[in-house]
Amino acid sequence: MVLMTEEKELYLGYASDKAMTPFMQKFLEALDGEKLMMSKCTSCGTEFLPPRQHCQKCLSECELQELTETEAKLHSYVIVDFAPESLSSKAPYVVAIGEFPSGKRLTAHITNLMGMPEVGMSLKLGYEHIDAKKLTYKWLV
Ligand SMILES: [Zn+2]
Repeated sequence: MVLMTEEKELYLGYASDKAMTPFMQKFLEALDGEKLMMSKCTSCGTEFLPPRQHCQKCLSECELQELTETEAKLHSYVIVDFAPESLSSKAPYVVAIGEFPSGKRLTAHITNLMGMPEVGMSLKLGYEHIDAKKLTYKWLV
């Protein structure tokens, strides 16, 4: 699914008025309430974060489940100096993979970093309403 808008977006996020499916609508409503959903395959049990509607392994339907973990450790990161045009005003910025105690990993921006990121540092899942219709999740240090 590709979401296109007329205006250039300055920030990664989910547009709350662009839900194409009931699955996506439910995901966005949870995000609006500052809850992140993952999904689990109804056939083979594989979990996906961020959620996928269909299983990557067996193509069966997945169901949304609330992610209950909020604290993670920095597993890996990249500092983006040369950003795509839509994000150039934000560069340099940090894209990080956080690992929850369960082993699940999530990729998101770290937006409140005051120094260099360090592998193993504590991260907390945060949310942001970028504007009236745009939502995102992010890592906070
Ligand atoms: Zn499956």
